Formats: sequence, structure tokens, C-alpha cells
Amino acid sequence: MRPSDLDSSFLTHAPGHWPQDALEHWDDYKWQLLNRVDTLADLEGRLHLSDAERAGVVLAGTKLAMSVTPHFFNLIDRDDPGCPIRRQVIPRVEEGWKAPEELADPCGEDLHMPVPGLVHRYPDRVLFLVTDRCASYCRYCTRSRVVSGVGEQHLETQWEAAFRYLETTPQVRDVLLSGGDPLLFSDDRLDKILTRLRAIPHLQIIRIGSRIPIFLPQRITPALCAMLKKHHPLFLSIHTNHPRELTSEARDALARLSDAGIPLGNQSVLLRGVNDSVAIQKALVHKLLMCRVRPYYLYQCDLINGSSHLRTSIAEGVAIIEGLRGHTTGYAVPQFVIDGPIGLGKIAINPNSIIDTAPGQLTLRNFEGKLFEYPDTCALPPPPVAQCQRHPNPVISAK
Ligand SMILES: *Cc1c(COP(=O)(O)O)cnc(C)c1O
Ligand code: SF4
Repeated sequence: MRPSDLDSSFLTHAPGHWPQDALEHWDDYKWQLLNRVDTLADLEGRLHLSDAERAGVVLAGTKLAMSVTPHFFNLIDRDDPGCPIRRQVIPRVEEGWKAPEELADPCGEDLHMPVPGLVHRYPDRVLFLVTDRCASYCRYCTRSRVVSGVGEQHLETQWEAAFRYLETTPQVRDVLLSGGDPLLFSDDRLDKILTRLRAIPHLQIIRIGSRIPIFLPQRITPALCAMLKKHHPLFLSIHTNHPRELTSEARDALARLSDAGIPLGNQSVLLRGVNDSVAIQKALVHKLLMCRVRPYYLYQCDLINGSSHLRTSIAEGVAIIEGLRGHTTGYAVPQFVIDGPIGLGKIAINPNSIIDTAPGQLTLRNFEGKLFEYPDTCALPPPPVAQCQRHPNPVISAK
């Protein structure tokens, strides 16, 4: 672990593994996309690969593509084989191993699509999968069955049918654009999608899920922010797993989004060897708050094919929440969730704070582990009406 991983420094890593003259193009997101590390030869030229990684890259070609923006690649520590950034984006041979409990579609999304590309699992909100491409690919991606476009299954969003479903389903008040990463679309294309959604009167809020502020902060241009701002109330959930991902560029991109009035939340995936300690999680959530991002969910790593080397036990997730709740700012504490299989939905997992229940009294545990009794008399049946000694059988007048 680098000392800076545990403090609140927002570092700049450019040009890092790239020649000095790359700085000239560094802030151009198109240059970043064109110069992604996406071949074995390019990767071997920049990192000393282990056999497990080399085999993983070959395997990735037909499963989930490898691609890493120069910005994100520079966060990799060249000398640390267990680097938490490396584990997220550099494939490993273990991805080819499917544990018996693992699935291609671990959350059962394909079972809840009224229209291809639209997942309607909860009563009042839908997940709209608008693209299968991302700026870089996360090896544990829960949607790797379709994301990156190299696997057997393909995302076939039916745009017109999806819009018509939304227009004719008044209980939907919240649309979450995801994929893939919607912020890879051009400003113009996104503007058209958002305008079409905004024309639906019953849609109260629009949300975008994006890892672009972390993988490609250069994409968060003033023009993009000005366009997004026209479609309020619009929320954005980013995806950050490790404090090192919050670079000075990411911090500035998040400030631009926040200044455009977009409430920001963060989703993290709990990953073995990446962020499976209270110290790293605490540093992460503190830096997120400094960027005006509210930690939203901490996900148990879904049972996606070939991800067991990155998964922790559920108890480890609970221990992280125990290490945060009460020990730091309440705003900093995400909700730990398991996204249940076969479309069961997100299930909140909390440390046990109710130790015992007795009629009218609970035994509770505080953040320091202290037990105490707490009266809960409102849960008891109402007490009998007090009897007046002089009038033992009061008669209520019917007049
Ligand atoms: C996560 C998710 C949502 C959004 O859930 P929130 O708890 O409201 O953030 C909506 N639809 C699907 C299918 C999801 O997986
Ligand atoms: S950014 Fe999101 S959708 Fe894209 S690969 Fe990572 S987890 Fe999957």
C-alpha cells in the first residue's frame, strides 16, 4: 500500500507510463480513448506481466475485452503485483474458472426485460441499458455477459419500443441510464435521449450510472455539464473502489458536475485485495465527501462467472460497515447490499444492532459494542383505562 492511499491527497499521475509529449494531448478525451491499452503487446510493453495475467489477457478476447485509458493505467503501481488498481482492470487466468454458484446473469436482469434493454424489476423505476461500451473494463463487471461486445451475448436495446414502454407505463417515475457507460455517447446523442425522456410527464427523475469521471475525467467537459444541467432533476452515480482513483483530474471533473447542480453518489464493489479493509474504505469515503460525492452503495461482488478470486465473504462487508458507522461522518457510510440472484433485487445487509427483544424492551448494541436496554413501550398493548375509585363502572353518556 502506498502511504498516499491512506491520506487525502489528490495526485496527478500524468504522463506516467507515457512519453512526456503525451501531456500535450492528455486532457483530450478522444486522445485518451484512442490510446487505451487494449492489446497484449501494448500491455507487455508497459508492465511486467505474470503468467496468470498473460493467460488472462488471451482469455479476455472472447469474454470481456481488456481496455484501460492512459489516465487510469497510470494509477497502476508497476512494482506491486497485487496493486489494487491492476486487479480491477488487468485480466487474470482465474476469470476462466467458473465456480458452481456463479452465473452469466447473476442478478437475473434478462428475466425482467419487458423490452430488450429495459430492466423493470422494481415498481416505480427502470434500468435502461443504453450502450455496451465503457471507457475501461472492470474484470468483475456484473454485466460482462453483454458489456464490451466480445462475448456470446449482445446488448440489443430496442430504442423505440423502450421509449414507448416508458411513455405508456405511468408507474415509472425514475429512469436509470446505464450499460455500459452512457457518458461515452456524444453530447448531442445524450441530449436527444434526455430530451425524449424529459417529454414524459410522469418521469420525475433521471439518473445516470457512469464510471467515466474515474476512468476518463477529461470527458466531463464544461459543454457536457451545461447540456446535462438542462435536464434536471438529474442524478449521477459514479463507481469508485479505491482512494487512489480519486485523482486531481477526477476531483475537478466531479466539481464540474456538482457545480452543474447534479447530486453525486458513489457505488463501490467490495473486492478482495482491492478495498477489503476498513482503512482503505475509510480513506475512500472521506475523499468522496471532499469531492461532494455521497457514498451510496457498497455491493457484495455479484456471483458473476470467473470472479471468485475477487470476492470476499459477506462478513467482511458487514465488518467494514461496523468500522464506519458511528466512527465517522454519517454521510460517509454507504449501504452494504447484496443484489439477489434471479432478480430478487437489492437486499440491504446491516450489522446486527438489535441483540434481544422482550415485550416493551429491546437490547441494543451501539457502535462501540456496548449493550443497553431501550424501552419500547409503544409496542405494548394499550394500558387498560384507569378505573375511578368512586365510580368503578363509568358509563359514557350516549347523548
Ligand atoms: C439497482 C437497480 C435499480 C436502482 O435501485 P435503487 O436502489 O433505487 O438505486 C433499478 N433497477 C434495477 C434493475 C437495479 O438493479
Ligand atoms: S464501468 Fe460499469 S458497466 Fe463498465 S465494465 Fe465497469 S462495472 Fe461494467
